[in-house]
Amino acid sequence: MNYRPVIDDLYRKLKMADNPGRLATYIPELANVDPEKFGIHITDVNGNSYGTGDCLEKFSIQSIAKVLSLCLTYKLKGEDIWSRLGYEPSGTAFNSLVQLESDRGIPKNPLINAGALVICDILISILNNPGEEFLEFVREVSGIPSINYSERIAGSEKSAGYLNTALCNFIKSFGNIENDTEEVLDFYFNTCSIEISCKELSQTFLFLANGGRKAGDGKQMLTLSQVKRINAIMQTCGFYDESGDFAFRVGLPGKSGIGGGIIAIHPGKYSIAVWSPRLNKKGNSYLAVEFLEQFTTRTQLSIF
Ligand code: GLU
Repeated sequence: MNYRPVIDDLYRKLKMADNPGRLATYIPELANVDPEKFGIHITDVNGNSYGTGDCLEKFSIQSIAKVLSLCLTYKLKGEDIWSRLGYEPSGTAFNSLVQLESDRGIPKNPLINAGALVICDILISILNNPGEEFLEFVREVSGIPSINYSERIAGSEKSAGYLNTALCNFIKSFGNIENDTEEVLDFYFNTCSIEISCKELSQTFLFLANGGRKAGDGKQMLTLSQVKRINAIMQTCGFYDESGDFAFRVGLPGKSGIGGGIIAIHPGKYSIAVWSPRLNKKGNSYLAVEFLEQFTTRTQLSIF
């Protein structure tokens, strides 16, 4: 299918539309981003790709990195990880402390902050140099050796990271963080700080649309069963407490980040990245959700 006319048409239309969204400002550096940026890039399993708008400009992927840290941990530890965290939607905000008390430090899923902190803790326990080895994994899966952390963004988040610090300490008080909390938080902030363009992001996530085989050489990165489960977790937990709404409106597994990026996967077909920094009240990019809703409606392709 040629997606180009639909993408171009929706881009033109939505670029002019009213956007009530607001920038995330609790990470000081994210408040400096141009709120009018808007980029889209699709990569299909046959190697075709197309993008428009600001699709070559790098932005902070933030929580989208949670899927990649989950992939590496799942690859290395298999089903053992589910003794440390669940795979149910949380129904609460991405940084909520509430559920941890009743569940005694076991996060609901790996795509909220609490779960991603536990994932980072697992990686620190099993890797010699988690920061380097995670980056190597992202570079390998994407085929893009220049992908890197942003010290500027990680430092900015750390300077205001009171809530994540509280989450990490709270989980540790229940015994579900093994390592030093400062080390876990630094690693977590680094994973969130990765900067990447829509083009690179859609290429990076293609393996989840392609049965675990990465773009380029087709190397198998995860088993088919692991890919199915990660896509299922993205479908049910990828958009904070708006995951049901995203499934209802768009009908694709995906993940958002408070940098305004969204990656969505059509298993067997494509991965598509959309970036627009203004967020709706639930912390998801207003324009990216609008775009993806209209994209799956116009192409009449979703997983349902
Ligand atoms: N680094 C952000 C935080 O922990 C990620 C949040 C997000 O993108 O949802 O608050």
